[in-house]
Amino acid sequence: MVAQIIDGFAIAAELRRDIAVRAAEMKDKHGVVPGLAVVLVGDDPASGVYVRNKLKATAECGLRSFEHILPADTSEADLLALVGKLNADPAVHGILVQLPLPKQIDADKVLGLIDPDKDVDGFHPVNAGRLSIGLPGFVPCTPRGAQILIDRLLPSLAGKHAVVIGRSNIVGKPMAQLLLQKNATVTIAHSRTADLPDLCRTADVLVAAVGRPLMVKGDWVKPGAVVIDVGINRIEVDGKGKLVGDVDFASAAEVAGFITPVPKGVGPMTIACLMLNTLDSAARRIAG
Ligand code: NDP
Repeated sequence: MVAQIIDGFAIAAELRRDIAVRAAEMKDKHGVVPGLAVVLVGDDPASGVYVRNKLKATAECGLRSFEHILPADTSEADLLALVGKLNADPAVHGILVQLPLPKQIDADKVLGLIDPDKDVDGFHPVNAGRLSIGLPGFVPCTPRGAQILIDRLLPSLAGKHAVVIGRSNIVGKPMAQLLLQKNATVTIAHSRTADLPDLCRTADVLVAAVGRPLMVKGDWVKPGAVVIDVGINRIEVDGKGKLVGDVDFASAAEVAGFITPVPKGVGPMTIACLMLNTLDSAARRIAG
């Protein structure tokens, strides 16, 4: 293997320790404990795992959490009322509504009601707008975490070509905005892009956020490139479930300079950045 593995698991642990130190200082100096409200509607098992991991990280970082587990038949009106209450609660600095929501609830309506200054997921249109025009706001946690990994390897992206595969509002588009802010020349690829392997071969930084297991092969990768694999896909190998990324790690690691594994790459950074966004939110409120 040629590539160095980017240890997102260890870097996220370091970040959580740093957040815990800063949170303790905030408590001492200002008497404020950053609070994260986590709302889960229904009993989707994957969402349950994500929420438990988020609550665990909250405790580990010395932040306060407010857990709201609601039944699957919760009405949209009841959920909107809860978001309204959390918006008004001064102990809550961040509000996270776990997606997907049951079909009787319009997710855009719910996310749109969250106070943009408590929108630690960064999904509110106001925060998407702030990011696109370079104003401070909340950046979605996955791209923020991926960018932290890239920054450690390439502090300057001037003159570099970054290719982001995927144009979702939660990963692809904000990732592209962050890379652009760092002066990369950015191409966003998607399902209608022609000659994707050729395009990827021109990338100094290649971010895959597609949701297609092992799609990016080693011969799509420019020698020495930084490869960030956002994908989380469950596949069956020898009758057993296995998590893999959107990048075929074995072949890509023969060509790339640096590569994130799946699991233990971008995933842990996402949760650490949720903590970071919550801490930032409390710090901004203190700063007025
Ligand atoms: P979406 O399904 O919202 O978006 C996928 C994107 O990939 C779309 O823009 C789509 O294009 C594009 N795409 C699909 N097929 C192809 C193809 N054959 N060639 C090129 N582009 C293609 O997914 P998300 O952005 O929400 O998530 C992407 C992946 O990241 C998933 O595996 C998800 O599980 C993972 N993820 C991981 C997180 C983490 O913490 N590590 C957090 C969030 C997501 P088009 O727009 O044209 O349809």
